[in-house]
Formats: sequence, C-alpha cells, structure tokens
Amino acid sequence: MADAKPLYDTYNRAPMLFERGEGVWLETQGGERYLDFAAGIAVNSLGHAHPHLVEALKGQAEKLWHLSNIHEIPGQTRLAERLAAVTFADKVFFTNSGAEALECAIKTARRHFYVNGQPERFRIITMEGAFHGRTLATIAAGGQAKYLEGFGPKVEGFDQVPFGDLEAIKAAVSDETAAILVEPVQGEGGVRPLPKEFLRALRELCNDQGILLILDEVQSGVGRTGKLFAHEWAGITPDLMAIAKGIGGGFPFGACLSTREAADGMTVGTHGTTYGGNPLAMAVGNAVLDVILEDSFLAHVNDIALVLSQGLASLKDRYPALIEDIRGTGLLLGIKCAKSNMDLVMAMRNEHLLAVPAGDNVVRLLPPLIVTAEEARDALSRIEAALDMLSSKDTQTDRMQ
Ligand SMILES: *Cc1c(COP(=O)(O)O)cnc(C)c1O
Repeated sequence: MADAKPLYDTYNRAPMLFERGEGVWLETQGGERYLDFAAGIAVNSLGHAHPHLVEALKGQAEKLWHLSNIHEIPGQTRLAERLAAVTFADKVFFTNSGAEALECAIKTARRHFYVNGQPERFRIITMEGAFHGRTLATIAAGGQAKYLEGFGPKVEGFDQVPFGDLEAIKAAVSDETAAILVEPVQGEGGVRPLPKEFLRALRELCNDQGILLILDEVQSGVGRTGKLFAHEWAGITPDLMAIAKGIGGGFPFGACLSTREAADGMTVGTHGTTYGGNPLAMAVGNAVLDVILEDSFLAHVNDIALVLSQGLASLKDRYPALIEDIRGTGLLLGIKCAKSNMDLVMAMRNEHLLAVPAGDNVVRLLPPLIVTAEEARDALSRIEAALDMLSSKDTQTDRMQ
C-alpha cells in the first residue's frame, strides 16, 4: 500500500525501526541491537552519539543556530583554516551535501577557464560506474542511465570514458576540456579503487594539458581509507576536491576545497547558499576534525582495516562459491559476490549486521572509524554465519534439483 503513504516512494526501506545508537551499535524500538557496518553510508564516521560531537552540537545549539552567509559564521573560518592546513587546499566553500560540493567544484572549474579567457573550456571527463550525486548536473556527471532516465535532456558538458582507461581519457581530452573528475575509490560503483599509478598519470596528464583534476572524496575522504584523504596514498594532490559524508559525522554538510588558482573565478556574487556552512554544521565539523586529527587515529583505522581485510580474505578462501573477491582500502571494503549481493546483505541483516549493496554485485562494509578490533571480529563471525546460511541453502537447492 505504498500509495497510502505521504512520502515519495523513492526508497525501498528496510523494516527495522531504529530509535537510538551508540558507537558501532544501533538499537530498534523493540530493543534489538545491530552492528552497524553501513554507518549511514560512510557518514557516521565516529559512530553514533559520539560524546564529543554531542557536546559540540548541544553547545552550539544553545548559542546560535543560523546566520546568513552575509555574516562571518562561527566556526566557518576556523574549519576552513584547519582543512587548508591539512590538505592541498587554499580555499573552501561549505555546502549542505555531497552533490552540492560537486556542483561547486564543477562551477569553480568552468568559471576558472571563463575568467582566464578560455570560456570554451567547460567540458568535464568522468568515468563509467561513477556516482557524484542526484542533482541534474551530478547525474549527468555520473552518467548512469538508471539515474538519468526520464529527467529530460542530460546537462551538457560531461564526457564519459570506461573505468580505469587512461588511453580513453587521453583521447577524450579536447580544446573544450576543463577538467577530469574521478573518485579515487568508486563507492556506489562497487568499491573500485583507482591504482596509485593511474592517479599519478591523471595528475601528469592534467598538468600537461593545462586542465584541472577534480577528486570526489565524498565517500573516500576524512580518514575512511586510512589516510585523511584517499589521494594521499598516490602522493598526488588535486586542484579541486568535493567532500561530505564523514566530515559531518551525521550532521549534513559538505565542502568544496580548491587551490587559490582554480578558485580565481569565484568572486563575490558568483555562487552562494543559504544554509551551507551553518553554525551547527561547523561546530560538528570542527569536533569531527578534533578526533580524526588526533595522533593515533589513522593508525587505528589501518589496524582495524587489516583485521577486517585478513578476515574477509580467509572467508573468501573458505566460501569460493559465494565470494569472488575482496576489494577496497582502509574501512571502505567490498565483498564481490559470486551470487546475488542482495542475498548476502539480507543474510547479514539476519545476523544483525548492517552493510550496503553497491554496483558490480558488491556488498560494501563501511563501519564507523572508531570500530574496535573486537567489534571487527564480531562482524566477521556474523558474516561467516550469513555465508554458512547461504551455502546450506545452496546445497538444499542442489539436492532438490
Ligand atoms: C554520496 C556521494 C555523493 C553524493 O552525496 P549527497 O550528500 O548524497 O549529495 C557524491 N559522490 C560520492 C562519491 C558519494 O559517495
């Protein structure tokens, strides 16, 4: 009876009703506990109800909720300075979401060439399997037919090439190209990391051609892969970068980071937002950074990533009929399934472990970065139980045939 509900029918919602969360755990109204390895799709980077974030949000809520961007906003300059200090960026624009951060990056790139006497350079090269959001421009950038269908003419100016195909990218660069836009690790596309050498080659190509490199680190950023940003593994820097998800720890916000040069067209009045960089968001973002920038934090992410990836590799050896491959970096891990990925997500849900399906028949594991080794091992035994259940089901069907 979907029609009886006043909400849009755009989501196929899971039946559990969650009421509260703590750390890596979610609890339903009925008091059932689930181990949350979905983390709101890489959003709850510090888990649920992290005391430092709760305190930051409550503290700000008692002072000031909202101010127009015609004023200096508490926390905005500080967060921008801190982000600039730990990245390639000189300039930051705050948004409410990942897609808006991408929109800002796209506009910044186009505008850069516009003010530098090359207005014809507005096209952006993207890769198959990409996901950059659900606005009209970002569905055009992502290029996936299932998200474009029925929404009118595709926004002009995006050229798509096959995943990981450097020659195709080189061939696609023209006099009208402004930028190349990629995710260092495709998230929705099936946890597909771009090799380090590939990212280095892209950086070199952009330098040679005088075009901009835009990275979408909305999912892979803010500690998720064991570095503050995934591109650091390749030892390169982009000209522009979109972030969101993990930086808010559950409070909705994103940011577009830029070099001074790339942002040279973004002068007074060229872009804006009512809510972006809101005081509440900035208080939480600064609190997230307090924790993620602590000395041992990323080492912890890498330690747990090792526990998980080794455990998953051994499950792959023991269940070759169900697992084809384990992929990903840090705590952005994917189980490439031999059978249906949805069946595995459901079987894991049965074991009270939450994960997210992704493209290419993959199950994504994105635990909060504060997950402990014990909780990682707990998740592994739940995954094993789910695999056991699926393989005994398979044996039964074989017998019936
Ligand atoms: C989630 C995501 C987006 C879109 O973010 P929204 O906040 O949903 O707009 C863009 N790019 C990547 C890589 C993402 O994972």
